[in-house]
Amino acid sequence: MPELPEVEVVRRGLAEHVRKRTIVEVAVGHPRAVRRHLAGDADFADRLVGRTVTEARRRGKYLWLELDGGAAGDDAVLAHLGMSGQMLVADPDRPDEKHLRIRVRFADDGPELRFVDQRTFGGLSVHPLVAAVGGGLLPAPIAHIARDPMDPAFDLDAAVAGIRRRRTEIKRALLDQTVVSGIGNIYADEALWLARLHGARPTEKLTRAQGRAVLTAAADVMDAALVAGGTSFDALYVNVNGDSGYFDRSLNAYGQADRPCPRCGTPIRREAFMNRGSFSCPRCQPRPREVRASPSS
Ligand SMILES: [Zn+2]
Repeated sequence: MPELPEVEVVRRGLAEHVRKRTIVEVAVGHPRAVRRHLAGDADFADRLVGRTVTEARRRGKYLWLELDGGAAGDDAVLAHLGMSGQMLVADPDRPDEKHLRIRVRFADDGPELRFVDQRTFGGLSVHPLVAAVGGGLLPAPIAHIARDPMDPAFDLDAAVAGIRRRRTEIKRALLDQTVVSGIGNIYADEALWLARLHGARPTEKLTRAQGRAVLTAAADVMDAALVAGGTSFDALYVNVNGDSGYFDRSLNAYGQADRPCPRCGTPIRREAFMNRGSFSCPRCQPRPREVRASPSS
């Protein structure tokens, strides 16, 4: 899965290359790529042809293209990148990619938009824009997604309060996209390392200062990744022009098992977490003590 900085790189590319262009033709090469568009591939194409892309937007790791008012009002093309989905802007003369699923041509005969997806977990779908929980207009299926820490309208204090109201562990709260969005496994581990918190810390015992520290750290590490040009471990994932966004990101904890903690030198530990791993420093980020009293005590 791409992380937020990669999605932002794609969004910027789309804003630069497809905004203010009018769609003239849509070809769906694989029905799975539009399976989230429940009215089917013909309806998907009908809703796009003749429309102009007005903006490329993102919330958390979700990306969409806003379209000018159609017959039913403003709506948007929501992109699900899945595990291997790519939004490519390609010269029409360029040979088709092996896993090209959707082609969008524009009235100016300029570069076309191609959705390429080897594993077909991703896809595109058209949805009305609705008022979202955290403000703004979002495609209906993602209206519950909270703002991310890099969003100019992100409310840090409200997000901290939302996390402290939860009855869960801090890492689970960071990955839950409804209080704060856009934080995946990599940046959760990095933010927790910076804030010196173990991911199993109970959210209801977190201080406001700890909550602010971990969310500020998440914004900082994602911002640093974005400055470096977007990052991904997955070679399948490339940005809007087909250039790999891969770079050797500097990670302090994630994926660093048995390497010395950059702060104290203690070997980083890996613990099982939701079918994946959590990486932390045993010394800087001690596991919380079991504090819940047994019913008999
Ligand atoms: Zn350490």
